[in-house]
Amino acid sequence: MTAAIYHPSLYDRQRFHPSYWASNVAAPDYGSLSGDRQVEVAIIGGGYTGLSTALHLARDHGIQALVLEAGAIGWGASGRNAGFNTLPASKLSAKAVFQRWPEAEARAFFAAQREGQALIYQLAAEENFDLQACGNGIFQVAHSPGAHAELAEEGQQLARAGIPNRLLSASEFASVGHGGPDQFGALHMLEGGGINPLQLTYGLAAAASRHGAQLYAHSPMQQWRKQAGWHELITPNGTVRARQVVLASNGYRDSEEPLALRNRVLPAISNILVTRPLSAAQWQAIGLHSLAPMSDTRMLVSYYRRLNDGRLLFGARSDTWGDPRQDGKMRAALEQLIRQKFPACGVLDSEFFWRGLVAVTRKMVPTWGRAPDDTSVLFNLGCFGSGVNTAAWLGRAMARSLAGQALSANENSAVFRQLPARLPASPWLQRKGLQLAYLHYALQDRLQ
Ligand SMILES: Cc1cc2nc3c(=O)[nH]c(=O)nc-3n(C[C@H](O)[C@H](O)[C@H](O)COP(=O)(O)OP(=O)(O)OC[C@H]3O[C@@H](n4cnc5c(N)ncnc54)[C@H](O)[C@@H]3O)c2cc1C
Repeated sequence: MTAAIYHPSLYDRQRFHPSYWASNVAAPDYGSLSGDRQVEVAIIGGGYTGLSTALHLARDHGIQALVLEAGAIGWGASGRNAGFNTLPASKLSAKAVFQRWPEAEARAFFAAQREGQALIYQLAAEENFDLQACGNGIFQVAHSPGAHAELAEEGQQLARAGIPNRLLSASEFASVGHGGPDQFGALHMLEGGGINPLQLTYGLAAAASRHGAQLYAHSPMQQWRKQAGWHELITPNGTVRARQVVLASNGYRDSEEPLALRNRVLPAISNILVTRPLSAAQWQAIGLHSLAPMSDTRMLVSYYRRLNDGRLLFGARSDTWGDPRQDGKMRAALEQLIRQKFPACGVLDSEFFWRGLVAVTRKMVPTWGRAPDDTSVLFNLGCFGSGVNTAAWLGRAMARSLAGQALSANENSAVFRQLPARLPASPWLQRKGLQLAYLHYALQDRLQ
């Protein structure tokens, strides 16, 4: 097992996150593994990636799949994110993606991202679960005049990639999005919107289970052996033998194996605050009209959405340690960011606060495939803050690959292929690197 890089409380699988989502969705009970099992495919991680892989294997290919989740199903990022069904899953601009990869590969990547955005609605319809979808598209909100000029360029590049969008001036955005001193216009991406992320997780889990996949919660894989062509995943009360393994542990990976994938992902902490329902007068004062999710153009991005029941959800990056004794300070930092964006908000009563890990890589776009040192292991790495559209789609692609089906051009895009460069092995150095990146980003934000 590898050393965790943050405060132990961030890895406490006994405790489900105290999120707003968890407060209003009943948790299904998937028991823990007891005894030994043998299956074709074992999956480590019960989030969107693992559950979607299991669902597609069982439903579309008739392949036995078994999911091991160390906490409750949805314990990781999938159950606690902000529910933005957005794209692209990258810290790169669309222009940079087109510069870095050949035109056809970049286009295939963006087409994949769009497919992923649509896939979750399709799955909810097919499997009969409610995503509580809301909002009409996604807004990227310029935090300065310079950022608005860059959004104009980004919009053109996204259009080149087949992603419908329109650029709004500050006054146009004030009438459909929000006003205030921190907006200089916005890019409206016309597809996607808000969802309830835990409903997506539980919907995928229920569907996977109904189609015959085995799901085990509170069953951490603690040891991984390989013998005579079989993987053996050892949990506290049982062992799973499988021909192939899917590593779907995202920013919560704790296994050394496969060695080729070590130190490729840097988990970064993101914090979310949800207020108590605001009064009609407060919403009027804030002037936030839309239920569409929004994020600003800062490198140290703030993301926010007005929820169906009149609350405000607001998220941003965190410190680089995650000690719960700093929760008060972190909440106050988020409240300060809200006041900066919406000075007329008055006193806000925050009811929920939680943290989670976003998977970041030096490549800046997601990677998936078979591990170079063991092709019977499939993985995905680095969905950044955009796993809602990406992870379930990658699960479907992995299921197709495991079933021996030919992959589509989008699934095969070269953008997904090359492994991200390795990070320093030391957790201390990883945290230092992140701190330096944050300082650099803060400076860039101030200059723009
Ligand atoms: C605060 C926050 C806000 C976000 N907001 C958004 C958003 O609005 N929109 C968006 O698209 N994306 C967002 N993201 C990112 C998105 O949530 C993730 O990309 C996505 O959920 C990843 O899904 P996953 O299944 O790959 O991983 P996860 O959901 O993280 O699941 C990985 C699971 O693996 C399990 N695991 C790890 N090791 C083991 C082991 N040894 N044995 C058994 N189980 C193990 C973990 O317990 C964990 O539950 C956000 C993330 C965070 C943290």
